[in-house]
Amino acid sequence: VPGDAVLSARNIAKAYGNIHALKGVNFDVHRGKVTTLFGENGAGKSTLMKILSGVVQPTSGVIELDGDPVTFSSASDARDCGISIIHQELSLAPNLSVRDNIFMGRELRTASGIDFAEEASQARALMTELEEDIDPMTLVEDLRLGQQQIVEIARALSVDARILIMDEPTSALSATEVEVLFKVIRDLTGRGVSIVYISHHLEEALQITDYAVVLRDGAMTAKADRKDIDLEWIVRNMVGEN
Ligand code: ATP
Repeated sequence: VPGDAVLSARNIAKAYGNIHALKGVNFDVHRGKVTTLFGENGAGKSTLMKILSGVVQPTSGVIELDGDPVTFSSASDARDCGISIIHQELSLAPNLSVRDNIFMGRELRTASGIDFAEEASQARALMTELEEDIDPMTLVEDLRLGQQQIVEIARALSVDARILIMDEPTSALSATEVEVLFKVIRDLTGRGVSIVYISHHLEEALQITDYAVVLRDGAMTAKADRKDIDLEWIVRNMVGEN
């Protein structure tokens, strides 16, 4: 659909020596939708995600944001453009409060005169927005994993992320926590946040997918609207037919 791409990957390639991790991948991240990357181990999903989030630089190809080419030299460049990544391994500090985790690392905090009460109230507002009843002063280690995942999302939102990359976000969650997470994701997309989703749980991921992109051996083998695909389509394009 023309016009609704918030981010476009154009011919993105990445070589590590003579290993071609990505061989010219083209796809769009649609505004306010969940775009899921499917692919077997080694297909190139992580590499692509790292490129989108500024952690790794492509060998060739261009990323466009709202139609304009951008170059990320670091993750902080990507964050400045509204792109945040939530890793499988949560990056929260367990012995710090929810509030401190959400606002950790912000320039604001290093400046003099941090208003901790104001931060706590902002943290609470973010939790309410995500419909989670979590006290911002709770230590992260006292939260369930599902709640920790929500704190990660709140942290991304606190720096105005409009594209959230989620790498295997359900891998440590219970079925109930997955439901909560999916509700939060739906809420975010409803507000115009775009999600890039990666998961090995194909059936589960299909529940939240709006657009599917399949990678195989560093190449994009298929992309489609959710309504046009099923599990069998994904597996066929992931594995290939010989
Ligand atoms: P997984 O689901 O296992 O994370 P993936 O689809 O994310 O797999 P990548 O991790 O992107 O795949 O790896 C794609 C290819 O690039 C693989 O052959 C991998 O071995 C190679 N690769 C990835 N990172 C590096 C690196 N830093 N140095 C050398 N080769 C790498």
